[in-house]
Amino acid sequence: MNRDLAASSAAGPDAVPDRAPTPDPVAGTDGASTPLSAAPRRIAVVGGGIIGLAIAAELSGRGADVVVYESAPDGTGGAWHVAAGMLAPGGESAFEYPHLTRLLEAGQELWPSFAAGLGDVGYDRTGTLSLALTADDVAEAAREWKHQKLTPLTGSQVRDLEAAISPRVRAGAFAAAEHQVDPRKVVAVLRDRLAGRIITREITDLSELDADGGSGTGASAGRPDVIIVAAGHRTGALTGLPIRPVKGQVLRLRGEPGLLEHVIDGAADGRHVYLVPRADGEVVVGATQEERADRMPTAAGVHDLLRAALDLVPGLAEHELAEVTVGHRPGTPDNAPILGYLDDDRRVVVAAGHFRNGILLAPITARLIADLVLTGSADPILDAFGPGRFR
Ligand SMILES: Cc1cc2nc3c(=O)[nH]c(=O)nc-3n(C[C@H](O)[C@H](O)[C@H](O)COP(=O)(O)OP(=O)(O)OC[C@H]3O[C@@H](n4cnc5c(N)ncnc54)[C@H](O)[C@@H]3O)c2cc1C
Repeated sequence: MNRDLAASSAAGPDAVPDRAPTPDPVAGTDGASTPLSAAPRRIAVVGGGIIGLAIAAELSGRGADVVVYESAPDGTGGAWHVAAGMLAPGGESAFEYPHLTRLLEAGQELWPSFAAGLGDVGYDRTGTLSLALTADDVAEAAREWKHQKLTPLTGSQVRDLEAAISPRVRAGAFAAAEHQVDPRKVVAVLRDRLAGRIITREITDLSELDADGGSGTGASAGRPDVIIVAAGHRTGALTGLPIRPVKGQVLRLRGEPGLLEHVIDGAADGRHVYLVPRADGEVVVGATQEERADRMPTAAGVHDLLRAALDLVPGLAEHELAEVTVGHRPGTPDNAPILGYLDDDRRVVVAAGHFRNGILLAPITARLIADLVLTGSADPILDAFGPGRFR
């Protein structure tokens, strides 16, 4: 299915890097495995989206001196502000790129402890219902359900699980391992934790960070020893790497809580849509996928999303259309992230290109990049994601 996140996969139990758990990904310390005496003293992170903030919080929690540069004054400049927050490893990625499946599953395994360290961020493990409206939709979905080893359900079995599903829906499957979180809540908590370490400034060239002495004030003043570029799709302009914007339109509906319990991921007459219900009655409806860089919501985009949403869940018709937003996924040529040192001098680290999976991958990216920067050694799982694969 064409969706932001797809279903599970066949990676083995070695998906998680072999490493002691970090007690608290934000405020916790991991001093035993991170010899700070040998670590860089000053670290600048360019980009205060979910990836940059998660890395900065992990580094800060381990005692590093970090400052984040974020161009948007209210922090809402990134794809995270639009993203639905589905946490669903595997599926398409397993067809495309097995290394990515391993990383997605490692990311999924870190989410429970990451969310627990943040507090109430809407982390919800109720699971996802995959739906197919027509016979053609069933035929397409069946391939994915088989790949995910999900048991197909009849329409009435689906409605037993979720009463609001249309009687026209022919079949479905339940993916217990696909969860959700509210990315806006995650970023709000991370920004709070990093208060005083976020500078509102657009970096147009990494050399600016040296020219003005780096970050500016207090303990973080001075030329940074390491620069981490986590600027989403704009990382390409700062590093020369092939990262492109992939436009996505997303709607937010609001109504009485309780219409839906599960995340819905479905197809209705060939139109793909997902519905992510929040506890407060918001339902996120996404998303288009367009190879464009503009920020314009379109009539066709909104129409297609609403039509598919109402075909699958007619009760949404009475909800308020509260928001139409546009964001840009950071896409790479192989749709996998770019994680690692940019050059041999090991001063600039890239953490970008997470495409459709940046929310899912935020905790694992933070851990892997913090380990890399603080210890100088790369976890083997990073081997497949280095910038060198595009040189
Ligand atoms: C429509 C849509 C739906 C999605 N749904 C999901 C989903 O359900 N699950 C999932 O896991 N992922 C989803 N994603 C993908 C996810 O949002 C991204 O992969 C993730 O946000 C990438 O995080 P990031 O921090 O690298 O980039 P961003 O979130 O884009 O943040 C980058 C930040 O860097 C700042 N910045 C950029 N350039 C500069 C500069 N030069 N100087 C200073 N600051 C700069 C920006 O202002 C921004 O705040 C979705 C994305 C979209 C667009």
